Amino acid sequence: MEPQVKRRRESACDPDSWVAYPVLSDELSRDVELIEAFAAPIVDKKETSRLVRELNSLHPLNSLPHIKRVRACREKSSRHPLEVLLCLVRDAPDMKVVSIDSLLPPDGVGHDGLGEPFVVKVPSRPALTRPQFELASKHWPSSFHEDKQVTVALRGELFNPQQKALMHMHMMSAVAAARAGKETGMEAVGAVVVNPATQGVIAVGHDCRGDHPLHHAAMVCIDLVARSQGAGCYSFDKYPACSSSSPTSDTSPDAEASAQPYICTGYDLYVTREPCVMCAMALVHSRIGRVFYGTGSADGAFGTKFKIHSQKDLNHRFEVYKGVSSRQCEDLHRMDDHMQKPSLEEPS
Ligand SMILES: [Zn+2]
Repeated sequence: MEPQVKRRRESACDPDSWVAYPVLSDELSRDVELIEAFAAPIVDKKETSRLVRELNSLHPLNSLPHIKRVRACREKSSRHPLEVLLCLVRDAPDMKVVSIDSLLPPDGVGHDGLGEPFVVKVPSRPALTRPQFELASKHWPSSFHEDKQVTVALRGELFNPQQKALMHMHMMSAVAAARAGKETGMEAVGAVVVNPATQGVIAVGHDCRGDHPLHHAAMVCIDLVARSQGAGCYSFDKYPACSSSSPTSDTSPDAEASAQPYICTGYDLYVTREPCVMCAMALVHSRIGRVFYGTGSADGAFGTKFKIHSQKDLNHRFEVYKGVSSRQCEDLHRMDDHMQKPSLEEPS
């Protein structure tokens, strides 16, 4: 159900050449699950409201509140216009031959107006996204409370051209940092932390794991952000491409009010490659606002192997988008040897 990244004709630095898609939780991205139910044609339309009332009383379908009891018949040549759900197959009585008589006790539901029962598959869970709703509707109609932002995001249309140009600019800074890091023998991964309220860059970093195994690009950036706030544990001064702004450099009107956010609160991270579990957890702990990455990685924790950003049992969740400046990020990814040696893949 995850949308495929669209390939368009692209030029080297064209923000129109990529599409940022949301990395949705499993709940929002899973396929439609179906459950079997007995349905029957309503051969006499005048009996519909009575049948629905009596069926709701006998088999209320409490576990499927999203399901509509009656649907218009799909076969245009059919002589009956409507079909009604009788009960779930699992709730039906044992019977040798499936018939209305064996399914419904006549003292519970009058059989007038009902045709012979048949088995249908109905969605067992409410649709949370339009793609889920459209798939579910192919089986049986259900209600759907649409989150328009999710629908627009799934179409890859959440960000307007001006926003995409800024996103591209920030990701290209991360790409440049990654190239600088690569030149010093590090993995070709770069990251940038941005304050989205001002578009001010708070920190730029690249992979430094040649010095320390935990210094992945995102970890470096988080430490640099902490450093910009007067804390931080490490020095990356010997790497000119790793830098952070001073705490006073953000001159937006609301900078004073939010002068000392808790590390990355409200900030965006642009990172060329999907972060690993360690980096993802560090981003959770640092209270990152949103994460944008260019290309996936085999051990990625934001969609590929895990979806750390949408874990319900973690106390901070955030939006993640993939595919930003994807071509440039994929080119970087290919610079690392492990692309040729999948068994030795390194986390990012
Ligand atoms: Zn990592």
